[in-house]
Amino acid sequence: MTSPVEFTVLGSGTMLPDAKHHSSSHFLDAGTERLLLDCGPGTLHSLEAFAVPWENLTHIVLSHFHTDHIGDLPGLFFALKYALPVRRHEPLAVVGPEGLYKRFGHLASAFGDHIRDPGFEVQLVELGEGDVWETDHSVLRAHPTPHTERSLCFRWEGRGREVGYTGDTGPSDEVARFLEGCDLVVAECAHGDPPGTDIHLSPRSLAEMAGLMRPDLLLVTHVYPPGTTEEAARLVGEAGWAGRAEGARDGTRVRLLDDGPELVHPGTPAS
Ligand SMILES: [Zn+2]
Ligand SMILES: [Zn+2]
Repeated sequence: MTSPVEFTVLGSGTMLPDAKHHSSSHFLDAGTERLLLDCGPGTLHSLEAFAVPWENLTHIVLSHFHTDHIGDLPGLFFALKYALPVRRHEPLAVVGPEGLYKRFGHLASAFGDHIRDPGFEVQLVELGEGDVWETDHSVLRAHPTPHTERSLCFRWEGRGREVGYTGDTGPSDEVARFLEGCDLVVAECAHGDPPGTDIHLSPRSLAEMAGLMRPDLLLVTHVYPPGTTEEAARLVGEAGWAGRAEGARDGTRVRLLDDGPELVHPGTPAS
């Protein structure tokens, strides 16, 4: 029997130093494909802490170029080039917004040849509005978010499951409709209400979007202190989202089973 599609939170935090919540990073294990969704500072430690087979990643998917979402890329490529006991040969697709080619050029200039030539083929794929990246096993769709000029959210579809990831976004019905009907939506909820900015979500705006997205499970992440992901998930419910909402922790795993998502927080039994 094949194992279910499984989503692991590697970093549920923000840009702030935080011993328990690394910056944005997630791992989607679909068996034949293994995707890293964002690669913020702390990713490398979480890859080890949560036993992620990082040597065999097939995709790195980047929502935007803020440091809390890409800061560990140089270290990951350094490890892939020099730390593997057996040299990697499989190609690695890096998917991200327009500007990805240029950004990788800058990273190579700053950090060295392990970015440009890690010893295996790196396929850089820039996605814009409406673009789709298809492989033999899955489809990855991208849609712009109101956060930076080129920030993206993603919808992954494979093995009969659908996972949405908002990346960083402000309130947007378009983004919500793009992510409608997923088994799991992983959503940022950076600030409390009333929010002081329109480039991030708050419990109230996320609740409105959740009403359009209607996921089986809404996993709330990227919450700035003094808020917590657990508190934000509760507030999303109080603001009107009647479905299931849970706060992400580093190490939270979601298995996408036939009868719905099964969530396991680190150190606790399945719920
Ligand atoms: Zn951002
Ligand atoms: Zn961010």
